[in-house]
Amino acid sequence: SRGRTRPRIFLPHLVASLEQVEETYVMIKPDGVQRGLVGEIISRFERKGFRLTGLKLFQCPTELAEEHYKDLQSKPFFPKLIKYITSGPVVCMAWEGVGVVASARKLIGSTNPLQAEPGTIRGDLAVQTGRNVVHGSDSPENGQREIALWFKEGELCQWTPAQAPWLWE
Ligand code: ADP
Repeated sequence: SRGRTRPRIFLPHLVASLEQVEETYVMIKPDGVQRGLVGEIISRFERKGFRLTGLKLFQCPTELAEEHYKDLQSKPFFPKLIKYITSGPVVCMAWEGVGVVASARKLIGSTNPLQAEPGTIRGDLAVQTGRNVVHGSDSPENGQREIALWFKEGELCQWTPAQAPWLWE
């Protein structure tokens, strides 16, 4: 869909890896914003070397939260989850890179923060599944779906980071 057709700016020697470039939707949930963890969380993805292509602070309407989490509709915690996600502003991010979907999930850690490894965002910064501070898409397909859901045309930006030749040989 939209993500695949946007022109990508790349250094010539990186064209070979073009096919593997993925995008993922990462969101700092309302607890992460309220607890002042925005900079800390963005930094982890930034320092890793992924490319930020979308970023905004946003008050999520109920319908959007329900659409985003529609696969969990039948779960007993679904109403609580929607209340949580809409309880305050979230930070919406689109990140792009080779292997970014799985890698972002690793940086984020297990759904239950008590089981998340130290060094991961949830492992370091959270204690409860219902307050696990951050979301990351679970597949490249969902990455595209969620970015299209949370961002409007014109809110995403393609650019070549100055550090590109220092990240990839
Ligand atoms: P993840 O966010 O790690 O991909 P899931 O897709 O299973 O995890 O669940 C989505 C979100 O729903 C979780 O991040 C968490 O905020 C919430 N959630 C999942 N399971 C529970 C639960 N048992 N109780 C409360 N909230 C839950």
